Amino acid sequence: MAALSRRTFLKQLGLGCTALVAGGNLPLPETPPRPRNILFILADDLGWGDVSCYGTTPNLTPFIDAYAQRGVTFTDAHSPASTCTPTRYAIFTGCYAWRRPGTGIAQGDAALLINPKLETLPKLMQRSGMVTGAVGKWHLGMGLGPGKTNWNQPISPSANDIGFDYTFLMAATADRTPCVYVEDGRVVNHDPNDPIEVNYQRNYPGEPDGVRDRASLKLDWHHGHNQAVVNGIGRIGYMKGGEKARWKDEDMADIFVDKACAFMEANREKPFFLYLGTNDIHVPRVPHPRFVGSTPFGPRGDATRQFDDSVRRVIEKLRELGLERDTLVVITSDNGPVVNDGYMDEAEEKLGNHRPAAHWRGTKYTPFEGGHRVPFIAVWEGQIPANRRSNALLSLVDLGHTFATLRGQTLSADAMPDSFDVHRALLDPEAASTRTALISQDWYMSYREGEWKYIVPRRAGNAPNEKTNPQNGALFHLTNDESEGTNLITRHPKKAKALHNALLRAIRAGRTRP
Ligand code: CA
Repeated sequence: MAALSRRTFLKQLGLGCTALVAGGNLPLPETPPRPRNILFILADDLGWGDVSCYGTTPNLTPFIDAYAQRGVTFTDAHSPASTCTPTRYAIFTGCYAWRRPGTGIAQGDAALLINPKLETLPKLMQRSGMVTGAVGKWHLGMGLGPGKTNWNQPISPSANDIGFDYTFLMAATADRTPCVYVEDGRVVNHDPNDPIEVNYQRNYPGEPDGVRDRASLKLDWHHGHNQAVVNGIGRIGYMKGGEKARWKDEDMADIFVDKACAFMEANREKPFFLYLGTNDIHVPRVPHPRFVGSTPFGPRGDATRQFDDSVRRVIEKLRELGLERDTLVVITSDNGPVVNDGYMDEAEEKLGNHRPAAHWRGTKYTPFEGGHRVPFIAVWEGQIPANRRSNALLSLVDLGHTFATLRGQTLSADAMPDSFDVHRALLDPEAASTRTALISQDWYMSYREGEWKYIVPRRAGNAPNEKTNPQNGALFHLTNDESEGTNLITRHPKKAKALHNALLRAIRAGRTRP
């Protein structure tokens, strides 16, 4: 997958790789309106069908449903991967994660995965004169890596080294250690007399254990999630110490909202970029007591309602500060939904008729649409038309280039190699997207061009699994077969081969954007 020379790349373009570049002779770019602020809310594992204005289950997300009517609801937006870390890597670097080995789902003690020398979304925002903040889920590593990061000292390098002026983060996920918040590289409520240690190999003597102490857990595990016990819940990975610093899952959504609101308030007089990565609706789903029982779907539904309320509180703060007309708001999700993701939280038992991926096939972790077609709502009062839908093709890897353009920044030729400037489509529901092809990543990669979608064959040695990947790959015609039910790979082998070759060209070229 090594990047080829620019000459080779241009030669390949000359050979007909037109699907990967913006089509035709576009008119000269006009100067787009410039948002003073950008608020980017990224939910976790929130499915297309979990948002009521997309799905069929009413009243799960009452605030978002109403808020979406103030802007554009996109129906063909995609996460570049169907899991957390690679999607986030792509968002912040504008580069597909599969180009950078080691950017799969990260442990909580992983080193910072983004090279501080790279161009990044927050750096571009900083350069445009914004104050930049990151609050919530990180999952891109921090520090020097397993056994090398000292959680009792300032952690470096951190998210603050890739362009964020302010950070308040959980290192990885709520189901992984360390179960503490890290603010600007320092563990919040750290007690020097109770030092924190973290590892993913073995428990510390005397610490509770999710297997041995299973009977005492307040939320039992289904698979995995049986190592350290924090707040009565088993986690992936071990930790000791830091009793005063440990989070309480029930308060996490409120704490992230409070920090996001405080950031906006503190910077109300300056342009700001704020990334808010919620924990909801990732596991463990342990919403605040005020949401328990708020839906018929158990903790998964209640966490969805809590996410909706987090969005409400942040948007109401924006209104209170008088910044709604100055702020472009994007709300989306890092990948598709999953029902049972390792805890006995009644997600399956109470699912009823709710379909988290709506009519799309597949879930988080899979290459099907349910894995990567995500809700995506853009609102900018006075600039984006209200109450509209758009079927423009977008990928979250495009946000870097798009936000940069909107803030008057130009990318250097080698920066953000997969990030298309889709600002026209973002602002105008009638505009076509500059993106015409789409690569999504999971255990298997898929390549979409227009109405056709190709999924690579399973790897040699992997057990065939028709649920996650057909043995010989798959080809679907998405317009005729939205639910990816009819594999056309034997009927249209030339089309499959053409898409396979286009994917190979995209890999070898080291870039896909014009
Ligand atoms: Ca996720």
